[in-house]
Amino acid sequence: MGPVTFDVEILKDDRPDQPDEKNVELPACWICNDTGMVMYRKKTDMGEYEYIAHCICPAGTKYSYDGQQCKVKSSYYIPWVAEVADPEMIAKDNIVDFYERHKNDEHVVKALEARGIKFKKGAEK
Ligand SMILES: [Zn+2]
Repeated sequence: MGPVTFDVEILKDDRPDQPDEKNVELPACWICNDTGMVMYRKKTDMGEYEYIAHCICPAGTKYSYDGQQCKVKSSYYIPWVAEVADPEMIAKDNIVDFYERHKNDEHVVKALEARGIKFKKGAEK
């Protein structure tokens, strides 16, 4: 385990924000930070390229596109993030990033704890 622990249930957390979170903008989705999509890198014979995947949260559904489902079929297809990467690892990186940026703000730390996200002391990079 890295420096952060959290319950994977928070990845599906669609509760309205807690009162404590009012002044703090915690992303509802840690996988995509509410952008709905995730960039990932893939190595091919031609080199390494960046691709996009859409997220498993509601924001991600607007990026959902499957050419096979369209009237004019195409092979263009944006995968779910879970098909191409480990959403839990992505979320963990994003949480750690967020924490690093806001760790001196006690409201943020409290709000994170309210969501069940805890940091070990001395886990600074
Ligand atoms: Zn998301």
